[in-house]
Amino acid sequence: MPELPEVETLARALRPHAIGARLTSVIVDGHAHWTQATDLAGGRVLGVRRIGKHLLIDCDGDATLDLHLGMSGAVRVGAAAPQAREPLRTHERLRLLLRRGQERAVVSLVDPRGFGHAHVGARDAEGAVALPALQAMGPDALEAWTAAQLVADADGRRAPIKALLLDQHRVAGIGNYVADEALFAAGVRPGRAAGSLRRPALQRLHAAVLDVLHQSIAAGGASLRDYGHVDGGPGAMQWQLRAYGRAGLPCMVCGHTLQRSVVAGRGTTSCPHCQR
Ligand SMILES: [Zn+2]
Repeated sequence: MPELPEVETLARALRPHAIGARLTSVIVDGHAHWTQATDLAGGRVLGVRRIGKHLLIDCDGDATLDLHLGMSGAVRVGAAAPQAREPLRTHERLRLLLRRGQERAVVSLVDPRGFGHAHVGARDAEGAVALPALQAMGPDALEAWTAAQLVADADGRRAPIKALLLDQHRVAGIGNYVADEALFAAGVRPGRAAGSLRRPALQRLHAAVLDVLHQSIAAGGASLRDYGHVDGGPGAMQWQLRAYGRAGLPCMVCGHTLQRSVVAGRGTTSCPHCQR
């Protein structure tokens, strides 16, 4: 469930607590998805970054912890987090205890559906991490993706344009709500064959994706289902959504009823009048 804006929000909130701190303890729930994280116990955190929907914690010794929050997840830092010595709470998969001088912080990863995972990979001088999931990802939607690439990827493709946006091998970080909002803003029907869209529509769509990402990051992400802000408070993007989750309600632009469909296997909301 967390998409690029939610993971970016987590990374920004985590940085001041984590950089320069030592990982004094790593507690996992015993599931194989998380055990690799314990390799980093005792290491020092050099940096916190995000690629696509992955949160990366760079440690000394050229090791990077790759956290993927799966369908739903939240990281809690500091005062709102459980005390270090308490047993893991229900659905809490991973707890990192950080110490920097007298400062202590607790990072707690809660993942009710259990689709997340932690991996540790070696990091090269350019920051690339030797993990298959990261190496297979397309350019980050916010940092590296271009309209020219979208035009090239769409060329000749019969798959729906929404499927292309959600394909992490093509562009990393876009999930269901960002896709629905961007397609709505650009006036593009989600089920439209990618290869049938002309260059101006694709350029409009690329710009719309970036607009939605910036808007959502500014709002602290969206609180959808299980996602919670890093300090336990909600992000506010859900109040600004114009398409996602509004099926059956009037379109804010034209007043027609927004329709629900399934595109690329995902629930999709769009306006039959505004999106062509
Ligand atoms: Zn409309």
